[in-house]
Amino acid sequence: MVYECIVIGAGIQGSFTAYHLAKNNKKTLLLEQFVLPHSRGSSHGQTRIIRKAYEHDFYIHMMQESYKLWAELEKEAGVKLYRHTGLLLMGPENGKDFQLIKSSMQRNKIPTVVLERHEFSQHIPNVNLTSGDGAIVETTAGVLYADRALRAAQAVFQTHGGTIKDGEKVINIEPGDLITVTTDSGTYQAKNLVITAGPWAKTLLSHTGLQLPLQVLRINVCYWKEKIPGSYSINNRFPCFIQMQPKEAEHDIYGLPSNEYPGLMKVCYHMGSETDPDERDRQTDRREVDALSGYISRCFPGLVPVPAVVESCMYTITPDKHFVLDRHPSYSNIVIGAGFSGHGFKFGPVVGKVLCEMSMGQNPSYDLSPFSIHRFNGNPK
Ligand SMILES: Cc1cc2nc3c(=O)[nH]c(=O)nc-3n(C[C@H](O)[C@H](O)[C@H](O)COP(=O)(O)OP(=O)(O)OC[C@H]3O[C@@H](n4cnc5c(N)ncnc54)[C@H](O)[C@@H]3O)c2cc1C
Repeated sequence: MVYECIVIGAGIQGSFTAYHLAKNNKKTLLLEQFVLPHSRGSSHGQTRIIRKAYEHDFYIHMMQESYKLWAELEKEAGVKLYRHTGLLLMGPENGKDFQLIKSSMQRNKIPTVVLERHEFSQHIPNVNLTSGDGAIVETTAGVLYADRALRAAQAVFQTHGGTIKDGEKVINIEPGDLITVTTDSGTYQAKNLVITAGPWAKTLLSHTGLQLPLQVLRINVCYWKEKIPGSYSINNRFPCFIQMQPKEAEHDIYGLPSNEYPGLMKVCYHMGSETDPDERDRQTDRREVDALSGYISRCFPGLVPVPAVVESCMYTITPDKHFVLDRHPSYSNIVIGAGFSGHGFKFGPVVGKVLCEMSMGQNPSYDLSPFSIHRFNGNPK
């Protein structure tokens, strides 16, 4: 049997690509190396932040459509995938990064509330705003129910006639007008291929002679206990937050209100140490946890500053932290979605849409030059 398209990798990006292909009546096979559902890639876990707060207009424009597509999936699957909480953004008030994001939100008319220092604790109790920091709330941001969303996209894909084969690892790709994909238990052919292999993208792309500067990081996903149950709870309308340039560390810290584990708030560091995706759970580097503990003691006095639960996840980062959404430079019927750099989940529906468009030979709905492979030319590392 020849498929119109094979998609490798059933994380959020591959699942949404397959979803859009099937909705366009393309006979599609979605291949996944692990038995679904699994927690060994980047799309597992119960929650992710959804927001439009970005410095770059191209992300904001994509998010405007992404919200609509998430709502469409909610309707199709009949499940609730989004909960509105708002996003509190804190960072050095006169710093370049904070000012850039603030002005891009205002320019794009994203509903925001600027909190002045004297009124901060009245609106956001139990948080100490760092001296010199400003605070803005993006009111339409919130929480996405990640595991549920992944299952919903896969279910709608199957309802539209798509085929999922899980527990099958792709071990070879032979490019051509008809692409041959070999797994550890079968061989399949398709006119088009989409590679959305998350942390394994680099390995898989090497079968096609392409080297991309992707780095895989292991992230400690930490949950911290509320001293008074409910004080940072989603039910008490505590928002998600991003702390830019914390005093304790080089990279951002972010958090989500207590929700999936009652009484535990998720607060993580937006960086990790390099890992081999097949060895992720053997690595126990917890250096970032110390920085988080220091930050929590200082700014979130209502949390016990020792993590109650630590899980792991992976980021696949590019040098500029922008995604890779492009055709293979040597084979135009191979499309690549990779390097989502720890912020790709919320874009799933729109990433899936553009990867689908490219694989159907259409012009993508967005200018994808920020995501092109050419940007690494001359600087492949
Ligand atoms: C701790 C953490 C917090 C995050 N928070 C946010 C957030 O708040 N908001 C946000 O927008 N984003 C967030 N992200 C980022 C987001 O989750 C990722 O960008 C997104 O999940 C990446 O999806 P993916 O489909 O590219 O990768 P994956 O989910 O890893 O999917 C790739 C799939 O390909 C499969 N695969 C690989 N190789 C093969 C092969 N050879 N054969 C068959 N199958 C194969 C893998 O098994 C895997 O299932 C977070 C990520 C982490 C880790």
